[in-house]
Amino acid sequence: MMFQKDIETMPREQINALQLERLKQTVKYCYDHVPLYHKRLDEAGVGDGSKIKTLSDIEYIPFTTKDDFRDNYPFGLTAAPMKDIVRIHASSGTTGKPTVGVYTKEDLKIWADCVARVAVAGGVTADDVIQISFGYGLFTGALGLHYGLENIGATVIPASSGNTEKQLMMMRDYGVTGLVATPSYALYLSECAKKSGYPMSDYKLKLGILGSEPCTVAMRTKIEENFGIRVSDNYGMTELGGPGVSGDCEARDGMHFAEDHFLPEIIDPETGKHVAEGEYGELVITTLTRKGMPVLRYKTRDITKIDYTPCSCGRTHARMAKTRGRTDDMLIIKGVNVFPTQIENILIETENVAPHYKLIITRDAAFRDHLEIQVELINANILDNFQALTELQRAIEAKMQSILGLRAKVTLVPPNTVERFQGKAKRIDDRRNQI
Ligand code: ADP
Ligand code: ZN
Repeated sequence: MMFQKDIETMPREQINALQLERLKQTVKYCYDHVPLYHKRLDEAGVGDGSKIKTLSDIEYIPFTTKDDFRDNYPFGLTAAPMKDIVRIHASSGTTGKPTVGVYTKEDLKIWADCVARVAVAGGVTADDVIQISFGYGLFTGALGLHYGLENIGATVIPASSGNTEKQLMMMRDYGVTGLVATPSYALYLSECAKKSGYPMSDYKLKLGILGSEPCTVAMRTKIEENFGIRVSDNYGMTELGGPGVSGDCEARDGMHFAEDHFLPEIIDPETGKHVAEGEYGELVITTLTRKGMPVLRYKTRDITKIDYTPCSCGRTHARMAKTRGRTDDMLIIKGVNVFPTQIENILIETENVAPHYKLIITRDAAFRDHLEIQVELINANILDNFQALTELQRAIEAKMQSILGLRAKVTLVPPNTVERFQGKAKRIDDRRNQI
């Protein structure tokens, strides 16, 4: 099944022709409406884009980065007048200012189409009852899936996240057939369901439409076995409007992009040049139809590869492989984006501790993530003072909670016991892949 079959099976030459036409329009639109792009396009000699003749000319267009979003917070990259903006979303925003995305009415419609494609490719039909267990709010995931699923005619339950018992009760009572969540939360729910005392036959669940963080095949299989469902993965990010950028089809051999709305490239993150077709590199995406906040060559920092060969499902749009990590050191813990530098900044501002630390991330038997931060004391004397030690530890934990938006366990260790590094520091010990 496909949501927009004509588009999803469009021959490659036609996709490329459409992309070229839309790329030119987007460059002109950005040039005319966003001062930052105007300046950069002029500096790069691209101007309003009228010189762009082929898709490969995209290489002359400068990249856009997450810092550009931060530096132009909140509306500096907005291209449409505010009166045409009907929705604002933002990323989890752990690094100081959040990343903001704005949408016109038309943007919302296209978004709902892209998400509908992903959901239908994942097996959703109008007969399904889907529970959305993403946190509702500024996060693009919940409302993105919400409108995409309604667009198909599925029944949507806006459960939001948290309160596991209630989540499971809704699943049983409302005859839920599909779950939308992060893979880690889906895994947790599935473990709880097994332990909850109700027979698994009380659940009508068939599908998991999961995304917003990496999901290995091993993890996917575990969720599938626990719930007796089939899981599909989908990918997106706030800067590009949220979910709906790409998603698994029934073949699950790469996630199909919505290539009529997003133009993907893979670059070598060091040189900025295109890698050979099929090689791994950093995913860069240009939006082709967004009006509220169009983005030229956004460096996603996600490492993946693109497959342009035809897929057994009949879709012609290119497929991205599951991501193989990121070019930056961003961690995703319990769905929250965390940069180690944020932690470092907190420690630098804290008295009595050194900026030497280690982050240990584990996943417990119930598949919940835990972050432990080992922090080195400057002065060993404090080790003999239990009260002072406890107070310091609590104070750091409270700061971490308020700035990261995440609970972390702080362990204070004696001076000079945290490993020192000659070259690039290896401060992160992520043990989650061991399950
Ligand atoms: P979110 O809307 O999930 O908070 P953010 O914009 O904060 O999104 O984070 C986007 C990042 O999440 C992506 O750059 C990518 O690293 C990660 N991500 C999202 N979906 C997936 C997925 N299906 N597989 C792997 N990583 C994903
Ligand atoms: Zn396919």
